[in-house]
Amino acid sequence: MIRVGVNGYGTIGKRVADAVAAQPDMELVGVTKTSPNYGAEGAVRRGYDLYAAIDDRVDEFEAAGLGVAGTLADLLDAVDVVVDCCPSGVGERNRPTYEAHDVPAIYQGGEDADIADASFNARGSYEAARGAGSLRVVSCNTTGLSRLLAPLDETYGVEKARVTLVRRGGDPSETDRGPINDVVPDPTTVPSHHGPDVNEILPDVDVDTAALRAPVTAMHTHSVNVTLDEEPSTEAVRDLLGGESRVFLIPEGAGIDGAGALKDYAADVGRPRGDLWENCVWEESISVEGRDLYLFQNVHQEADVVPENVDAIRALATDASRAESVARTDESLGVGL
Ligand code: NAD
Repeated sequence: MIRVGVNGYGTIGKRVADAVAAQPDMELVGVTKTSPNYGAEGAVRRGYDLYAAIDDRVDEFEAAGLGVAGTLADLLDAVDVVVDCCPSGVGERNRPTYEAHDVPAIYQGGEDADIADASFNARGSYEAARGAGSLRVVSCNTTGLSRLLAPLDETYGVEKARVTLVRRGGDPSETDRGPINDVVPDPTTVPSHHGPDVNEILPDVDVDTAALRAPVTAMHTHSVNVTLDEEPSTEAVRDLLGGESRVFLIPEGAGIDGAGALKDYAADVGRPRGDLWENCVWEESISVEGRDLYLFQNVHQEADVVPENVDAIRALATDASRAESVARTDESLGVGL
């Protein structure tokens, strides 16, 4: 059993904790919280051991009726791997602590690429990540693009990818985010940083990205144009993407016309928190004109990196191959719609 701790129990951390707890070869030792808020109560309700992220706050948890099993240092002493799910930049501050405890760490996409030995996406860089002492699971957008571009490049060769990312303004629980009445280029410079981040996973794929922020919370939307080396038929590309376990082809005729319906569908089929772990590609949007492929895909920013974190743990701590790890993760979570 791989003993895992999750440091930072927010949007990503609570989902990673649930996913780790669902793995037959992993044990979730505990999660940390900075304060005894509703998230801490939720962790206790799920039966997870709670650790105080900040040493002198143990009394605050006790006063709120939430007993803690110890502090972050105690958690680090009890685990084989720590998954850092703290806000962007906090992971960098935590790194010396993990190193002092000699615990391999997995960081998230909000950190700079150089925080870890390698950046990670199971589809794009599982084998390349072997032997690393630490990994960084790339962001939700980079995860979605890597899953799409890896099979296209392997099968047809990618001459150039151009992607416009319409990003959600904030997560549903982030009441202080925006915009609320505009669509803003973010950054205003083009290309955006997302393309170079894809190159941390797929170094040889030429990809330019431009990004905007929109007043929505459910999902990101990508408008994709890929110039391929070959001229496959539209049907062949549909079959290729349909064969990827972490790509969901939204069927024509399903009546799913946007993120709202996608999330409704996820809830209807019983997904925890209405999570969509897969890239969601509109099947009828897949269109090949000569060597140019066009499509729309949606990415559920709160969820798509979750199975990737599970595979990153195996890449770091076991000899499991990519195929073994992905199959195990997908089966235990129910990935694949
Ligand atoms: P979040 O704010 O929802 O959760 C972070 C949690 O860490 C909060 O509970 C916060 O209280 C806690 N925390 C803060 N300081 C801490 C500390 N010193 N020690 C322990 N816990 C601490 O953030 P998030 O959205 O889950 O993002 C976490 C990471 O995942 C970031 O790097 C982010 O860029 C990345 N990420 C986020 C998304 C997304 O859309 N939410 C998607 C992919 C990747």
